Amino acid sequence: MNFEESDEERMFREAVRDFAQRYVAPVWQDYDRNHEIPRDLIKKMAEMQLWAPTVSEEYGGAGLSWVMACIAAEELARADLSIALPVMYLVEASWAAIFDMYGTHEAKSEILPRVTKGDLFFGIATTEPTGGSDLVNSTKTIIKPKGDNFVVNGEKVYISGVRESEKYGGVYFTLAKEDPKGDHKAFTAFILPLNLGDGLHPGITTTLFEDMGRMGVSTGGFNIEDVEIPKHYIIGERGRGFYYAMMGFSAARCLIAATCLGAAEGAFDIGVEYVKQRKQFGRPLAAFEGIMFEAVDSWMALEADRGLTYKSAWLMDKVYREKDPNYTALDVAKFTAAAKYRAPHDALDIITRAMTWHGAFGYTKECPLEASYRGVRSYTIGAEGGAHIMKIVMGREIFGKEYLPYRQKGQFD
Ligand SMILES: Cc1cc2nc3c(=O)[nH]c(=O)nc-3n(C[C@H](O)[C@H](O)[C@H](O)COP(=O)(O)OP(=O)(O)OC[C@H]3O[C@@H](n4cnc5c(N)ncnc54)[C@H](O)[C@@H]3O)c2cc1C
Repeated sequence: MNFEESDEERMFREAVRDFAQRYVAPVWQDYDRNHEIPRDLIKKMAEMQLWAPTVSEEYGGAGLSWVMACIAAEELARADLSIALPVMYLVEASWAAIFDMYGTHEAKSEILPRVTKGDLFFGIATTEPTGGSDLVNSTKTIIKPKGDNFVVNGEKVYISGVRESEKYGGVYFTLAKEDPKGDHKAFTAFILPLNLGDGLHPGITTTLFEDMGRMGVSTGGFNIEDVEIPKHYIIGERGRGFYYAMMGFSAARCLIAATCLGAAEGAFDIGVEYVKQRKQFGRPLAAFEGIMFEAVDSWMALEADRGLTYKSAWLMDKVYREKDPNYTALDVAKFTAAAKYRAPHDALDIITRAMTWHGAFGYTKECPLEASYRGVRSYTIGAEGGAHIMKIVMGREIFGKEYLPYRQKGQFD
């Protein structure tokens, strides 16, 4: 058992931290207000091979392990407490990597070099108006063969990066069913070319939602009407899309945990510094145990979350990179769900405490913590799987899938 980072990991962390503190920390509050991450910042990250770095070198990525990808997410979020930039980073790092694993060479050569250069957004579109938790029953989007190609009809909502994709170009790992009545084996995954850089694809119309946080990155939706998808945009085998999506969720969940860990560390440092300086009743606030013990609670949660986060990333590497037969995709799902549950909830507590320590200032927009509170809240609600769903995944692995409530069908059908 080794709790130390390797030399390579430590040097990588230092390089990302240096970059993030130099280029991200000074500007994130501006883009939280302006609602757009500067393009030159994304391009700079791409030059550092930090944009979709999990993609293989063949397609312009850095072939980073999941542990390394988590280190970058943690350092980016420590610098951007709103977590908007880390969200863009993690969505692409997760879903472009799954496309890299299962997409056709033709589609990957066309799309991935543009993604890793920061020119084309790579998102995920599974959620529909009928729901995001129960994908099997909620998915109404249909994909059907048409000659050599496919045609898609449906609607996706609460999708990250829609504004950016419409403005600069973006594609989505998308799920649809071939048979509307089919189960999880009816899903086919494909690339939806929302905008390949020459405007919205014919048949697609978009909407935008006004979120409470992570304002630098958008959330929106799109209607898909008779959109033709070329055969080579199908990802992997038809009928196995659900499995590829579950893999992508595991990837995204460990990166989300690392992101929330980084934001919580940033908030903790700000809070600790403040209570050492701020005096009331003749002494620094930190010298009152009411404050000190809260800081200790925050520190313990950070240490626990760091362990869970990096164990889940380590498992991702064991199963999906090293193909180690001692671990399974279900082990990964259990641990990434645990990390994705705990890290955002603990981060929210840690940020809330640090806000409270700042008194009235903590409730103003001058204080960086309120933006962090708004951003991290997205991950205690829904994005990349609701909190309850994380517990269902863990419960399934603890008790066995026969205990899942939704398998006892009948009375509400
Ligand atoms: C900021 C943000 C960005 C997002 N970006 C994307 C994106 O890029 N792509 C994408 O596809 N989706 C995205 N989503 C959607 C996200 O995946 C869904 O919100 C999530 O899957 C939950 O689906 P829902 O919102 O339809 O809630 P529902 O599925 O309707 O669930 C509502 C509530 O009930 C709970 N619940 C559901 N089933 C059970 C159960 N069996 N037992 C107990 N509780 C249960 C849920 O946890 C949730 O709290 C994003 C969401 C947010 C908030």
